[in-house]
Amino acid sequence: MAGFVPSAAESKTLLRPVLAPPFAGVDAVLFDIDDTLVDLATAMTRALRRASEHLLPSMDTAGWEKFGRIFTHETTHYYDRYLAGELTFNEQRLLRGRAALGHFGVELGEGDEAHNWLDVYARLQPTFVRAFEDVLPVLDALDAVGMPYGAISNNVHDYQRAKLDSAGLQRITLLVGTDTVGVPKPDPAIFLEGVRLLGTQAGRTLYVGDNKVVDAVGATTAGLRGVWLNRSAEAADGYKGPEVSSLRQLLA
Ligand SMILES: [Mg+2]
Repeated sequence: MAGFVPSAAESKTLLRPVLAPPFAGVDAVLFDIDDTLVDLATAMTRALRRASEHLLPSMDTAGWEKFGRIFTHETTHYYDRYLAGELTFNEQRLLRGRAALGHFGVELGEGDEAHNWLDVYARLQPTFVRAFEDVLPVLDALDAVGMPYGAISNNVHDYQRAKLDSAGLQRITLLVGTDTVGVPKPDPAIFLEGVRLLGTQAGRTLYVGDNKVVDAVGATTAGLRGVWLNRSAEAADGYKGPEVSSLRQLLA
């Protein structure tokens, strides 16, 4: 161990923990993407409105919020069927759109009408995706001390790569998608692939995500240190693990 001997000032910098005390002993951080790093729910709701407003010309803001909630929160069983291989990505999208439209009494026709709705939605949604304001400060802090990080997502790699890039998150170079190992979260294999790519140990790797079951409990079950990012003050419902309401709370 010859060579580098830090000065007192350098030692202080090197030893100052970047993460808050509950996350001591962590060497690396993995993040979920959708609604953790990027505000997908808002992007979806804006795109849904643009794709659907000709069908619901007199809908008010509260109506569009409800429309968005049906699509983003109340029909996720269709996304689960996509993850299980029972539906294509577009089929689950269309079923969720039909459910939201149906709630307001609109039946989307087959053929061109459905095709056009999907086309407008698919074209606009990525253009509305933004990183949450707490993401860059956390990545800056991790970069400042050289702590590695990456992302694990329940969508395919290339789609999520484009999403991170268009949200200005090109610096997240380590990305594991559902097609990387062939299974989605909460299967331990997808979490452990992230750990393997980081070159860390599972027990010293933090995993942060907005879904308390799939992300926080799933990562913890895989041997990582799962943290639930609860941005909207949801009820814990029996969850007793670590919880933050903003990514900033990860930092010392
Ligand atoms: Mg998520």
